[in-house]
Amino acid sequence: MRDTLLEVRGISKRFGGVKALDKVDLAIGRGEIHCLLGENGSGKSTLIKIVSGFYQPDEGEIIFDGISYKHLTINQSIQLGIQVIYQDMSIFPNLTVAENIALNYELYSKKRLVSWKNVYKIARQSLEHIGIELPLDAEVGTLSVADKQLIAIARSILHNSKLIIMDEPTSALTRREVDKLFKVIRQLQSEGISVLFISHKLDEVFEIAERFTIFRNGKLIVTDDAKNVDNESFVYYMTGRKIEENYFVPDEIDRSRSIFKVENLCLKNGFENINFEIYPGEILGITGLLGSGRTELAKALFGLYSADKGCIYIDGKETSIRTPMDALKLNVAYVPEDRLTEGLFLTQSIENNMIAAHIDGIKKSNGIVDFDKGRADSKKWVADLGIKLDKLEDGIQTLSGGNQQKVVLGKWLETSPKVLILNGPTVGVDIGAKFDIHNYLRALAQQKNMAIILISDDISEILMNCNRILIIKNGKIVSEHKNTDLTVETLQNLITGKKEAVL
Ligand code: ADP
Ligand code: MG
Repeated sequence: MRDTLLEVRGISKRFGGVKALDKVDLAIGRGEIHCLLGENGSGKSTLIKIVSGFYQPDEGEIIFDGISYKHLTINQSIQLGIQVIYQDMSIFPNLTVAENIALNYELYSKKRLVSWKNVYKIARQSLEHIGIELPLDAEVGTLSVADKQLIAIARSILHNSKLIIMDEPTSALTRREVDKLFKVIRQLQSEGISVLFISHKLDEVFEIAERFTIFRNGKLIVTDDAKNVDNESFVYYMTGRKIEENYFVPDEIDRSRSIFKVENLCLKNGFENINFEIYPGEILGITGLLGSGRTELAKALFGLYSADKGCIYIDGKETSIRTPMDALKLNVAYVPEDRLTEGLFLTQSIENNMIAAHIDGIKKSNGIVDFDKGRADSKKWVADLGIKLDKLEDGIQTLSGGNQQKVVLGKWLETSPKVLILNGPTVGVDIGAKFDIHNYLRALAQQKNMAIILISDDISEILMNCNRILIIKNGKIVSEHKNTDLTVETLQNLITGKKEAVL
C-alpha cells in the first residue's frame, strides 16, 4: 500500500433536493493512478469540485498530506499541489499554445512585466517534460481536443503538482490519442505525482489504474485494486443491475421479400459495389474500422450523401434516396453518430426535439401544429424508452448522454419507420442506458417487424444485437456472418484482418 496523499472521509453535498454525494470516502496514494468511475450523475464531478475548493462539502473532512481540512478554498487547493483538468479544460482558444501553458504561471510570479521569452521557455520545457511536441505559437482554438488536454496537463505541472485530477479526459479522444494521454499519465506517475482519473469505461481501468472507486447515485459502492474487478462485477457495481447480454436470435424470418435492398451502391472515396438485403424483423450489423467506409455508407443509405451509382429497393420497388426527405417519405429513419451536431437541436427543449422529425404528422387539418398531440406522443416515448427527465420543457442539454440518445431514438421512431438505420447509437452512453437501447431495438425488430441496420465499431454491441453481420473494409463488404458463429475475438480479427478467423 502506498503512503496516502489525499483522503476524503464522509463527504456529503446536497444541491436543493438532490443529494449529489452521500458520505463518500476516497483515498489516493502518493504516485498512484486511481480511477473514479460511475454513471452520469453519480457525483464524480461534485467530489472533484470539493477537492479543488470550488464547492464546500456539507459534512466530512479532506485530509491532504496528513493535515485535515473541513473544506478547501480554490487557492488553498492549488497551494497544496492539487490541479484539476475539467471537462471544458478552461483553455483560451484565442491564445497560443505557449500562452495557454505559461502565461498564468508568469503572471503568478508577480513580476511587473511579462517576459515573453520566459513564457516560451517555460512552455517549451513543460511540454518536453511530458514528452509532447506541439507548435508553441499555434492558436489553441485550431487544435484537437486531445492536444488541448495535453496543453492543460503541461500547464498544470508548472504548479508543483502532487495530484492531477482529470475529469473524463478520454470521452472525446480516439484510441491513438488515449494512448498518448496514458503515456503522459505514466510519466507523471514516475515522478511521484498522483493521478485521479475519472471515467466510465472499464477497459481504461484495466489499462491504466492501480486502484479504482465506483460511485452510484452519490454513494460509494466499492473501492479496490484494479486487478480484482471483472466485467460482470463492474457492470453490477456501476448500474446496480445484473446485465447479461445474450446473442440476438430472431424468430423465423420471412425471407420471401426483402424490405430494403441495396444493389451495387457506389460513392467515390467512400465505398464501392455494396450489396445487401434486409428482411423485416432482422437487425443487420455493419462494422469496420474507422475509415472503412461504414459512416459514408450509413449516410448514403439515408440520403445525407447522394450515391454515384447503384440502386436501393424498398419493399421490392426501385427508389431513389438522394436527400433525407426522400428517405423519410419512404419510411426510412436514421439515428446519427454524433447526436450533438447531427441529432439534436441543442438550444431547444426536450419536447421540441422529440417532435422535430414528425412536425408534419401532428398538424391539424388547418395546418397548425397540434402541440397537445406532440406532448402526448412525447410522453409516450419518455415512458416507453425510460427517459429520465424532470420536465419535458427542460432544455435537451440538461439530460445525460444516454437520455439524449433515447430522445433522438424517440424522435425518429415517432415517424413510424419501417427501416431504422443507426450509426454508433451508444457512443458515450452509460452501460445501463446502453442495455435499455439494445433491448428496445430487439423489441422493435421482434414485435414491430422493423428492419434495423446497426452500424457501429463497438464489437460487442454488433455481436450481441445483430443476427447477421457484414464486415466492411476499404469501402467494400468483405464477408457476411451469423452472429452466433462468432465471438468477440473472432469478430475483432475479422475487422482488423489480423488473422483469418476460422468459421
Ligand atoms: P457526474 O460527474 O458523476 O456525472 P455530478 O457530480 O456532475 O455527476 O452530479 C451529481 C448530481 O448532482 C446530479 O444529479 C447533478 O444533476 C447534481 N448537480 C451537480 N451539480 C449541481 C449544481 N451545481 N446544481 C444542482 N445540481 C447539481
Ligand atoms: Mg461529471
